[in-house]
Amino acid sequence: MIRTENLTKIYEDGTVGIREVTTDFPAGKLTSIIGPSGAGKSTLLRCFNRLIEPTSGKVFLGDTEITALNGKELLKARRRIGFIFQQFNLVDRLTVLDNVMTGRIGYHSKARTLTGSYPKLDVEMAVAIIDEVGLKDKLYTRVDNLSGGQQQRVGIARAVAQEPDVILADEPLASLDPKLSHQILGLLKQFNEKYGITVILNIHDLEFAKQYSDFVLGLRGGAKVFWGTLSELSPEQVEYVYK
Ligand code: ADP
Ligand code: MG
Repeated sequence: MIRTENLTKIYEDGTVGIREVTTDFPAGKLTSIIGPSGAGKSTLLRCFNRLIEPTSGKVFLGDTEITALNGKELLKARRRIGFIFQQFNLVDRLTVLDNVMTGRIGYHSKARTLTGSYPKLDVEMAVAIIDEVGLKDKLYTRVDNLSGGQQQRVGIARAVAQEPDVILADEPLASLDPKLSHQILGLLKQFNEKYGITVILNIHDLEFAKQYSDFVLGLRGGAKVFWGTLSELSPEQVEYVYK
């Protein structure tokens, strides 16, 4: 589904973000990117939708080369990629429903978005997704009145409302306790299985990655050092990734 070829990001100050990463992230599967802090996990994930501009190499989403697109074409391709952030990145003063509706923005004209007149079907779809993440009783609650776990569920609902092929999640658990972390991963797995959305998450905590992932990509110092299924990941390889 997402494929990278020799993807490299060198930051302006010369720091290596990622180096020559070539990987195929299988469609419809849940893949975790593991590795210690500074390994390049966020850099890689953000290069996929060009939140970070790669220095060289290619990114493909299906048959579309993301790294060859500009302007409108890039925006259109980004619609197919939902993104979930560690710090949620919601609009605090908007309600749950309005935040989730922003996931539909790519599908409508700017004028329509500004006046808040969304098509009825879109609203119905958003409400159904909010129900699926367990927040139906909070539709009209401002998100700044929600707990961290609830806000992350809004983040997931917003990404799903985009009807994406892929959901990328950059350390979605980092602000949450273990119980909430399981809730969030459970939801991502549920959307992955139910709608076939490919999910790729950055997760530094291997124990969580282990319980939910089909595949694992190990990064170390910006380079790919492991790719495979969980059963192929040996204790020695774990140590190599993290040491
Ligand atoms: P991870 O998400 O695995 O913790 P990152 O992708 O954030 O790793 O970082 C990879 C490397 O790139 C680290 O050495 C980090 O310090 C560096 N880095 C990240 N962002 C920038 C930046 N904007 N400018 C310079 N170096 C950066
Ligand atoms: Mg990171």
